[in-house]
Amino acid sequence: MKPVRIGLLGLGTVGCGTVQVLARNGDEIARRAGRGIAVVAAAVRDLSRERECRLDDVRLTADPASVVADPEVEVVVELMGGTEPARTLVLQAIAAGKHVVTANKALIALHGNEIFARAHERGVVVAFEAAVAGGIPIIKAVREGLAGNRIEWLAGIINGTGNFILTEMRDHGRDFGDVLAEAQRLGYAEADPTFDVEGVDAAHKLCILAAIAFGIPLQFDRIHVEGISGITREDVTFAGELGYRIKHLGIARRAEGGFELRVHPTLIPERRLIANVDGVMNAVLVMGDAVGPTLYYGAGAGAEATASAVVADLVDVVRALTADPENRVPHLAFQPGALSDLPILPMAEVRTSFYLRLRAHDRPGVLADITRVLGAHSISIEAILQREPDPERGEATIIILTHQVREGDMQSAIDEIEALAHLSSPVTRIRMESLAR
Ligand code: NAP
Repeated sequence: MKPVRIGLLGLGTVGCGTVQVLARNGDEIARRAGRGIAVVAAAVRDLSRERECRLDDVRLTADPASVVADPEVEVVVELMGGTEPARTLVLQAIAAGKHVVTANKALIALHGNEIFARAHERGVVVAFEAAVAGGIPIIKAVREGLAGNRIEWLAGIINGTGNFILTEMRDHGRDFGDVLAEAQRLGYAEADPTFDVEGVDAAHKLCILAAIAFGIPLQFDRIHVEGISGITREDVTFAGELGYRIKHLGIARRAEGGFELRVHPTLIPERRLIANVDGVMNAVLVMGDAVGPTLYYGAGAGAEATASAVVADLVDVVRALTADPENRVPHLAFQPGALSDLPILPMAEVRTSFYLRLRAHDRPGVLADITRVLGAHSISIEAILQREPDPERGEATIIILTHQVREGDMQSAIDEIEALAHLSSPVTRIRMESLAR
């Protein structure tokens, strides 16, 4: 089948990220969606500007309406930001019977009621996963994964810039203004940081989350909004001394006779998982009556992280366009005829680091013998800890942390170590994962 042809409105941070992800993961995406996805047109403000992504076979224009009207374009992806002309263009796309994907939280929070009503009349999809918490699939989790629950409340760290500032103030005892200036230098905060530090950006996202959690219209102007600009370094320190962290939260709660919608700095007990979400990362805690608390964590912004959500929405749209209605989401996520036949690797080929605990008879040369065996199997040691020998039992405990090693090599080394007759019990091994990448 021919690829689905999309038109991008905007080729900035998220637009270029989307182009890159579609190019790099094109085969994988087609195996999931059932068809490829091709960018055929893109609108920008400044045609002369150098772009960070490759744009072969893409019609570049400064006239976004021409992308919407282009008969070649089947799906419109709005990544320009702001409410106008984004609103007008999205409404034009809907009127033309085209599905829309957008990352624009301001647009959805302020004009979503109107946009969704038109889309409903016209029978098209307007997908907006990237509008809340960037790469975290929180819309899908709340709307689909938690569909069996009555959502009681949710609370989110949904502005990475604000969280970065509060984290730096706490970790390094810095002042708000000083960290804000650095966030601007690093490109986390806009030149005009008002939306981030005064809570407007978080309120846009909370407005959307509350609507899908509780089944209420989007009501941005009903949200209580406070930013973090009044928080001082002393507040952060005092909160810490009392066992709390200050986080900028968007909170939506079902209460007696209505719903609370509020964005403000909040003290949270430091033992809570969400209190440990630091730097530019985002997290949303959702409490369902059946499932209890669930936590979603990840990058709330950035070119490819946000593109991850944009492309997921595109895959949904392509499936809706392509598959027969009874089989829109394949059972195993990929189209049935496109499953990979690569093998599952034998455990002996898996590479991990190891924690080894050995109980050895307390006599000279034991440690040297053990490290010699490890060395002979090309296993390098990251750390060794030897406990004082237990004089009564005449044995010493040795703890060894290794660098990454093939499981098969580690097994051979352990077999050899156990055959040395130095040990009073078999080697205990626990695999280690840094889980950082
Ligand atoms: P950006 O880097 O400023 O890019 C905006 C793009 O839109 C630029 O390519 C710009 O053209 C183009 N554009 C703006 N107005 C236009 C107009 N009137 N006509 C034609 N082109 C126009 O913005 P971004 O950071 O990618 O954000 C895009 C959207 O994603 C926003 O709604 C934002 O809230 C949302 N979002 C962003 C992130 C993130 O990490 N950045 C995360 C989640 C959601 P030029 O390049 O020529 O100026």
